[in-house]
Amino acid sequence: MHNLNKSSHDVDHGIKHTKKGLSQEKKDFIDNQNLKDDHVDYDNKASNGTLNSLTPKWTEDQMDEREIAYNLYSSNRPIIRNHWAELQKKNGNTAIVCPFCGLTDAVEMDHFIPRGKEKLFPEYSTHYTNLIPLCHNCNLAKGDDWKENGHQIFFNAYFDRLDEIEILECKISRDISTGIAISEIRLKISGYENEVCQRVVNTITRLKLLPLYTTDSNKILRSKTIEFKTEYEQQNTRYAGKDDYIGAKRGVIRTMSSNVDDFIAKLTYSAIVESNEYWDYVKSQL
Ligand SMILES: [Zn+2]
Repeated sequence: MHNLNKSSHDVDHGIKHTKKGLSQEKKDFIDNQNLKDDHVDYDNKASNGTLNSLTPKWTEDQMDEREIAYNLYSSNRPIIRNHWAELQKKNGNTAIVCPFCGLTDAVEMDHFIPRGKEKLFPEYSTHYTNLIPLCHNCNLAKGDDWKENGHQIFFNAYFDRLDEIEILECKISRDISTGIAISEIRLKISGYENEVCQRVVNTITRLKLLPLYTTDSNKILRSKTIEFKTEYEQQNTRYAGKDDYIGAKRGVIRTMSSNVDDFIAKLTYSAIVESNEYWDYVKSQL
């Protein structure tokens, strides 16, 4: 899970671009309904961490208004294409990695506060800060949920700051029957009392991300073990035995763990450095 830089375009810019290509009737609708005020209100609440206090603009007997606002969004409209381009520019000029899972490129635009089948919040259907890129699986799993027991459920990649929040840990153990070293990414038992941490935990749980992280971590573990085995077989004269080799490699992995950006690799390398069980396993493989 990671933050994304949001578009630097302001609400006025968003409203102006929402109107592009629309009929005069729809342009007038946007002005007459004061969508701009709703978008300003959204950003204020998002900045204060109180998006959960948003209430629908239109009542259930105003389905016509809801319908018009709902249809302001379409993934191939210029405003959405421009939004993607702006986000790419603001986030490294490469493909945007899904901020939820951190594993796959984002290919779809999620409405953080959903337009939804119920059309509850169509007033934010084209609002820049309500549009967050996600990968297909995360977008599908998120669905139209956003609030539970009055609390916002999901991590917001634009507004929830993740700095210095450590929620995951990697544990390496030996499989009881085979003796093979295996890793597991899991939630830390404590340390996430604040709201943002709760949202991250909820997001990880609801999207069932831990098994995906564990699969990735095990791939890293396996590939490192094979690498060590192969290298030791080829260069064993450089080292005064297995223990000497393992000591050297433990230092290498320690350096890697502080330099790598990929969060699964970082967790896995840190666990490798700490785990005597892992190095016992490597030794048995040399
Ligand atoms: Zn994802």
